[in-house]
Amino acid sequence: MAGAARPADAETASSIRDAVRSGHRSAVEVCRHYLERIAEDDGRWNAFTAVFRDEALARAAEVDRHRNEWRDRPLLGVPITVKDVICTRGQPTTAASRILAGFRPPYNATVAARLREAGAIVVGKTNCDEFAMGSSTEHSAYGPSRNPWDPERTPGGSSGGAAAAVAAGLAPVAIGSDTGGSIRQPAAFCGIAGLKPTYGRVSRYGLLAFASSLDQIGPLARTVADTALVLGVLAGHDPHDATSVDAPVDDYTAALSGDAAGLRVGVPRALLGYGDAGIDSEVLAAFDKALVALAAAGALVVDVELPHAEHAVPVYYLVAPAEASSNLARYDGVRYGARAAAAEGGDGAGSPLAAMYDRTRDAGFGAEVKRRIMLGTYALSAGYYDAYYRRAQRVRSLIRRDYDRAFDTAGPGVDVIAMPTTPAPAFRLGEHLQDPLAMYLGDVFTVSANLTGLPAISVPAGFTAARLPIGLQLVGRAFGEATLLRLAHAYERVQEGPA
Ligand code: GLN
Repeated sequence: MAGAARPADAETASSIRDAVRSGHRSAVEVCRHYLERIAEDDGRWNAFTAVFRDEALARAAEVDRHRNEWRDRPLLGVPITVKDVICTRGQPTTAASRILAGFRPPYNATVAARLREAGAIVVGKTNCDEFAMGSSTEHSAYGPSRNPWDPERTPGGSSGGAAAAVAAGLAPVAIGSDTGGSIRQPAAFCGIAGLKPTYGRVSRYGLLAFASSLDQIGPLARTVADTALVLGVLAGHDPHDATSVDAPVDDYTAALSGDAAGLRVGVPRALLGYGDAGIDSEVLAAFDKALVALAAAGALVVDVELPHAEHAVPVYYLVAPAEASSNLARYDGVRYGARAAAAEGGDGAGSPLAAMYDRTRDAGFGAEVKRRIMLGTYALSAGYYDAYYRRAQRVRSLIRRDYDRAFDTAGPGVDVIAMPTTPAPAFRLGEHLQDPLAMYLGDVFTVSANLTGLPAISVPAGFTAARLPIGLQLVGRAFGEATLLRLAHAYERVQEGPA
């Protein structure tokens, strides 16, 4: 059981890249190794929804043929996985939903194109909650993924397959999406690093939209350095995504100085409640240790106040479903994926066409997606809009203002804000399935970064007595990924002790 994960021979993306670049290993050999690991082991974790064996090997052979010419490509020969909500040309892309069964997009998401351009090899698509709605992968049409540290537990969600794949050594790095914690929470549950970049830092072109004002794409990896490496590939302006920002992309790898000297780290003590807020005592103890480690790395730890952050969960669960109800209207059985058999007669809904829409959506969407569509439709409907949606947007602005004040040099002037990634470690499969509210409350620390757009990373911060991983979350200034990663890297070094 516990301890099954993290194979001792686990490699980093940068070490693979260096070995392929120098000719020490061929890209084909590396690719074959990971394909074999997946074939042998994924029956235990259910991390993959599709594996692209032949295409991956063919691309690896191409990398080998061009090794000299492509030597500066930052992910040369690195196998990577892509979450099933991200389009890859001609390959199954289903959002783990029955409604997209058989859908093969005719184009690559910008992130998929950039990875390929950087020399990476996409080996497969990873499992997730349907349309990324969930915290456990239990809402996947493919069944849940399992946590490599304890297969009776969830790897988290929605990017649970991505985190399980990396933690179990089936891939060195994975690409996930994060609308309300879906990169960071699975990273925390699986003992790896996961970064949600600033809103606008990475293009979402080709990401199946969940909640467009919150969605971001980012990496999950074993080390902070690998998240920095992959962010450098993903980041940048894209004319295909009007929300992507045309701001300079820093050299994130060069930012990893190894220490945190001069950085100010804010701790929102009131939010953590210390005992009163339902936070697991082992998570709090690990967080207290992490603060000591941050100080040891050279950071100055100070208190900050985020008085509205405690309302982040209700705000998120109005805004995200509202946007989802609109985004998911396009799945009607006409343009993409599965279609229910043409209905005879009106089925009460009017025309046969309307009946076809209804049947397709009824059969195609799972229970959680339907719940979100209903919540969102309700929150946006006349008479409730002001009471719910508009009020949620107002509180969202107040939460953003809290963060702005904490970062403001006229106030505490912190560079980064620290808190646990989740209030508890990985829960058992089935534990929250009948209680959506309990599932939603686990998002209390992660959703603020989406509501504010700020970048945030989860890094491993030790274990519970039962050997379940715990995550430390660090939230940075908008477009401050270089500083955020520098601190996370410095923390990781102190945490691991001298090599
Ligand atoms: N757990 C959150 C939800 O269920 C987060 C989802 C996400 O980030 N995609 O909505």
